[in-house]
Amino acid sequence: MEQLRVENQEFEGPSNAYLFEAEPTTLIDTGIATETGRRQLTEALSAHGYGFSDIEQIFLTHFHYDHAGLAGDIQAASGATVYAHELECQVLPGVGSTSLLEFDGDRVDAWGIPDEQRERLEAYLAGVATLAGEPVEVTPVKTGSRLEVPGDTVTVHHAPGHTAGHVVFSRVQTSDVFGGDVILPTYTPNIGGADIRLDDPLGTYLETLEWFDATQSGPVWPGHGDRIDDVSGRIRSIRAHHRRRLDRVADVLDRDRPSTPWEVALAVFGSLAGIHVLNGTGEAAAHLTHLERHGVVARRHKGYVRVDEHEVNPGDLVRDPPSHRKGG
Ligand SMILES: [Zn+2]
Ligand SMILES: [Zn+2]
Repeated sequence: MEQLRVENQEFEGPSNAYLFEAEPTTLIDTGIATETGRRQLTEALSAHGYGFSDIEQIFLTHFHYDHAGLAGDIQAASGATVYAHELECQVLPGVGSTSLLEFDGDRVDAWGIPDEQRERLEAYLAGVATLAGEPVEVTPVKTGSRLEVPGDTVTVHHAPGHTAGHVVFSRVQTSDVFGGDVILPTYTPNIGGADIRLDDPLGTYLETLEWFDATQSGPVWPGHGDRIDDVSGRIRSIRAHHRRRLDRVADVLDRDRPSTPWEVALAVFGSLAGIHVLNGTGEAAAHLTHLERHGVVARRHKGYVRVDEHEVNPGDLVRDPPSHRKGG
């Protein structure tokens, strides 16, 4: 298995694609559908003696453009079977709506993004829409699906949170995990703005982390950056990040004057531009929703106030499970 890097200046820095050489020649994620992305993936494949027309199957971890963008191009060249979770099919090009805001604008309406910023965000999203790539025909997979790779089998696990239909692929013989954007080595994946379809994206993501920590020993091959060997350690630091952020979000709320997710995002992140209007406000909204579910904050009019009905310490909502690993 080879790790291939594809540039990605538009979103979050170089993406990884993973190549299993024959047979069946398989790619896990594809990189972004920019000219540079296309050229870099072509060059990386040809260094191993392959071209787009040789790829027999593609496994997509999630729908994001920097992971799925080139799937349609490759499928057009080779007829590759493309596998993704059925929830991602709703937002992949040629299958469903390619704009998440079109998909569920109501939820974004409730975030209180001022009209001017909302218009700029929609213009930004329209501008990057071509990066979704060519239309792709998708074969849906779900938890328990088994797919063949050269010399091994991978099992599919639904791992929602970063997106609604994110999946990870675990090799049966080697226990390597292809984790997409569930766990990244150097920063925490966006929760709440990266997919606006989930009701409690942070709660969903924390459940995914718990499942991941309990069942996947790794190593994890992430969607960006280098291999993660200390999976439990990385998960602990991601939890610590969300614990701090829940505290911070609860702290900026007043007990009388409601704040919208947009106002909370500004207080937490400073200014927001481009995709960060969506990601930052969505992240604030995800933390507010999670706090609301646990009685720390309540909705008033179009915003949230601090209530502390049950005297919950916000950070306590993210607990590390009892240690279940050797030495962990
Ligand atoms: Zn992503
Ligand atoms: Zn990503």
